[in-house]
Amino acid sequence: MAENPLLGKSEKEIHRIILLSNIEVAYRYASLVTSSLGPQGFHKIIVDEDNFIIVTRDGRTIFENTHVDHPVEGLLLELAKTQDEEAGDGTTTAVVLTGELLKNAVELLDLGVHPTTIIEGYKKAAKESIRIMEGLAVVMRDERSLRSVARSALNNKMLAPYKEFFAELIVEAVLSTLEDGKANAENIVLERVQGGSIKDTQLLRGVLVEAKVVLPNMPSKVENPKIALIGTNIGPPVGTLGELAIEVELSSPEELEKLERSRYSFSALKDIVKHLRDLGVNVVLCRKEISSAAMHYFAENGIMALRNIKLKTLEKVSKLTHGKIILNAATATESDLGCAEIAEERKIGDFNFIFIGYNDASATDARNTGVVTILVRGGTKQVVDETYRTIHDAVRAVVNAYNEAVLPGGGAVEVEVAQQLRKLALSESTKLQLSMLAFVKSLEAIPEILAKNSGFDHISILLELRRAHANGKRYHGFDVLNGDIANMLERGVLEPLKVKRQVIKGALETAQLILRSDDFIPKRELEDVEEALIRKDVAKAREHGFDIEKPYREAVKFFGRQNVLDAIRICGWRSVEEVTGIVTGKKFETKAAEK
Ligand code: ADP
Ligand code: MG
Repeated sequence: MAENPLLGKSEKEIHRIILLSNIEVAYRYASLVTSSLGPQGFHKIIVDEDNFIIVTRDGRTIFENTHVDHPVEGLLLELAKTQDEEAGDGTTTAVVLTGELLKNAVELLDLGVHPTTIIEGYKKAAKESIRIMEGLAVVMRDERSLRSVARSALNNKMLAPYKEFFAELIVEAVLSTLEDGKANAENIVLERVQGGSIKDTQLLRGVLVEAKVVLPNMPSKVENPKIALIGTNIGPPVGTLGELAIEVELSSPEELEKLERSRYSFSALKDIVKHLRDLGVNVVLCRKEISSAAMHYFAENGIMALRNIKLKTLEKVSKLTHGKIILNAATATESDLGCAEIAEERKIGDFNFIFIGYNDASATDARNTGVVTILVRGGTKQVVDETYRTIHDAVRAVVNAYNEAVLPGGGAVEVEVAQQLRKLALSESTKLQLSMLAFVKSLEAIPEILAKNSGFDHISILLELRRAHANGKRYHGFDVLNGDIANMLERGVLEPLKVKRQVIKGALETAQLILRSDDFIPKRELEDVEEALIRKDVAKAREHGFDIEKPYREAVKFFGRQNVLDAIRICGWRSVEEVTGIVTGKKFETKAAEK
């Protein structure tokens, strides 16, 4: 048995060992996503709890689906979630920056700098970084710039051929949601339905309601619908009484009976339907049940009635059509009703929807329909899901850029901030200065990783970037797709200030928590020495009768070793070959190993 490394150590030493170990776990876990950063970032294959294969390069998705068995890993997952929720993009950057802050802290710890001092220096540097960024940010709201923002956020290898198409679609969507001069991401509904191809993804000026017209004599298409949005049951509730409690004072059981009867009697139902019909209603969306009797009355009156509609959907329809969600259908008034151009049944893939909204023909004057839907399509679930995640990020990026301001991407902002911070650090005491410089170094890791991930010499690129910025080229960054250093504002590699600000805040907070932690007990030893392990894996494959070295190495290069192993564990050696083949476009042939 291995000797307990904590045996015979002083408390102080133990704390230090635990701190270092926590940092190591964090750095390694963060490294899971390092290779995914930027337009040339790698995808990972993840096998989720239900043995489903996910192909993604989204930081949050990777963390959410990799098993967390260490508190430090939990902290990084939280960081990714917060980044996503606050800013909608930048999750990978936040995690990578945290990893770098921790790695660079280790050097300072070795020099005898106390964690508190490191934290102090990091805090100061973070605060200054945000200030410098705010000074650097520019407002760029024209369509061309917004499309650039979208393109920078759509930096996913898998979607590269569709970048223009999506950028245009997303900007159009965002510009349809303007309200008091602000764009609103909440009014862009993302739906995904497997089937068709990525190119079939479309912008709909309205809302898709997941529902079906259930009666043959009920209309499945209504032009110029007048819509009633009802929040409670129509007819006797099925099963439960519903969420709405009405307080009525009753003096006798007879009265209760009368009330019940009047609420649910058929004649009362008929009256409700008649009342709605007289108002001109031809579409009814009900949050709860509509009794079968009521359904028939609706059908007889040529009204499309849909039941069990999610509250969220009702709210979207309400926003779109300016109808109010009402609790009592019997007292609905004209002003409660919503209108649109069309309500019609549409079968998309294997699902039934009712589309409520506007025809595309009138799109130009319907720019601010308030609510739009991006319907994401794609041939496989993996593709649809990854497209969905990427579009989600890009929508948020464009909204943030519209509402606030943008920064130059491609490492430009990091190098500029680094340069200014370096000067500021000079006026601090030695130890604080060291910590601030460690922060600077961490920031500069971003352009380095971007360059590295696309196969460029990261050291010379960083040096060139530094030189450009020393010569006052504040917006120069490394354009990964073009392989050169240029003004990122002109190249259109743009990132929302909001994203970058949150990256700094989140990374600082998380690094700080970990640097203060000297009592999480690490639960597992992490693997080491990639190459040796790969050789071991290859040998193991051979034992199982597979001579698979080449595709395996290719797979590890593309997806990272742990992902590949997970996939193998669930689906066998051949699966890796397949998935690798699909994503890299290469063909592999596994021959049986010669024994
Ligand atoms: P995140 O999850 O942090 O958003 P991404 O994988 O989306 O991670 O990568 C974001 C980084 O990629 C940003 O630093 C951004 O500036 C950079 N980037 C995007 N497009 C380009 C490009 N054409 N050249 C260089 N860097 C780019
Ligand atoms: Mg991104």
